Amino acid sequence: MAVHQARKRFGQNFLTDESVIESIVRAVNPARDDTVIEIGPGLSALTGPLHDRVEHLDVIEIDRDLAARLRKRFAPERLTIHEADALKVDFSAFGSDLRIVGNLPYNISSPLLFHLVSFADRVRDQHFMLQKEVIARMVAAPGQSDYGRLSVMLQVRYDMQHLFDVPPEAFDPPPKVTSAIVRMVPLPQNRARAKSEQAFFHVVAKAFSQRRKMLRRVLADWQIDWAQVDIQETARAESLSVADFIRLADYLTDQGILA
Ligand code: SAM
Repeated sequence: MAVHQARKRFGQNFLTDESVIESIVRAVNPARDDTVIEIGPGLSALTGPLHDRVEHLDVIEIDRDLAARLRKRFAPERLTIHEADALKVDFSAFGSDLRIVGNLPYNISSPLLFHLVSFADRVRDQHFMLQKEVIARMVAAPGQSDYGRLSVMLQVRYDMQHLFDVPPEAFDPPPKVTSAIVRMVPLPQNRARAKSEQAFFHVVAKAFSQRRKMLRRVLADWQIDWAQVDIQETARAESLSVADFIRLADYLTDQGILA
């Protein structure tokens, strides 16, 4: 087959390092009857070994040329190719107990992570290759410099673990940044959650819009009795835990300030 020219606009950096590929598949450890969905199969570095381990694999690829290559290589009975933008895919159509895997295009990683939040009820786990810095933000604890909106919005829904780093040399072409693998496991039904998800998202976004300012200033539009919420008046967004944000969102909902 002709050589595929990597397309920057689709964030194409293809994995070539066999030991990294093996480590990722080992981390996912798919069983034959698992429902595995791969986002961005590309030149099938992960698709091949995943396909060997499961009865059937679903893949989502936006690049028509790559989708055509996959069609030539794999039998349709065991590999379904969805030629689509993963940001627009309705993952509920795949059923439940989903295992989602991908060496994600870095240019759309945050919107894709947020898109997947709405299907978390149907997901068993997600294993993603992302920019190492993004994973550091996802798993950061309150008070750490990487802690921010992404940390809170994902930690309220997933248990997340940075598994291992992947150097640029593991790809062709090599990206400019170091990558890493993250495991995301949705929290159970009885997890701590806000009465209104919308209020939670709203207050988290507003609080982090000026992360170093005191919250009582950033949220000055709202009448907040900080003692009642059990948050110090001098606190900043970067020091609040997920539980603090839930209490704050619930207070704002109870007061009728946010719906
Ligand atoms: N999985 C392959 C590997 O590890 O070598 C390719 C990884 S490459 C970083 C990202 C892949 O995602 C490419 O195949 C690219 O065409 C595809 N892609 C980019 N944007 C996409 C989108 N919005 N929806 C689905 N696939 C996308």
